[in-house]
Amino acid sequence: MVVAIDGPAGAGKSTVARAVADALGFTYLDSGAMYRCVGLVAREQDRPPAEVAPELRIELGERVLCDGRDVTDAIRTPEASEAASRAAADPAVRRAVVEQQRRIVAHGDWVAEGRDIGTVVAPDAAVKVFLTASPEERARRRAAQLGADVRTVLQEQAIRDQRDTTREHSPLVAAPDAVQLDTTGLTLDEVIARVAALVDAVR
Ligand code: C5P
Repeated sequence: MVVAIDGPAGAGKSTVARAVADALGFTYLDSGAMYRCVGLVAREQDRPPAEVAPELRIELGERVLCDGRDVTDAIRTPEASEAASRAAADPAVRRAVVEQQRRIVAHGDWVAEGRDIGTVVAPDAAVKVFLTASPEERARRRAAQLGADVRTVLQEQAIRDQRDTTREHSPLVAAPDAVQLDTTGLTLDEVIARVAALVDAVR
């Protein structure tokens, strides 16, 4: 079964999705890491992301490998975030990446995290959660994670949010049947408990 956790950057998706996967014994899928790999390699090779996406061999696990190279840290820089967001706006890139993601979650139990898991990748997901938090809270969390300045993160986040929500293909929207969960002011344990309860209700 698939538990889909979608939402904007900094809403706590990866932390929550990892923890929920651990708690349930499911496998965690970081869909954003795949767009990050495409963006990074396209940028490095100065090629269009749409050309890079279909041929890139991405392996997700403890470490993220792109054609066998460990890019776990390289895909987390602000430049890589920007390149990922740009690459993800290209429909040809999305087609290639979504196809891989659908293959991955077709068998087994997954907690898949992203922007379009509940709407596009796994519209039949058993549980769909749309995680949100106030922009300031999200920027605070990201800045703490990156050791960066909150105001800079907030500005960059606003640009990415704008692009992610207004892009023509698979804009960031909650699936109509997703449970909206605002994590502002909630502890991680509280959020995990709420998601786990949703999963228990359908198991
Ligand atoms: O989640 P993360 O910040 O790692 O995602 C990087 C970028 O990839 C996002 O800015 C977003 O544009 C894109 N993305 C997407 N669809 C997903 C996951 C990520 O468009 N399912």
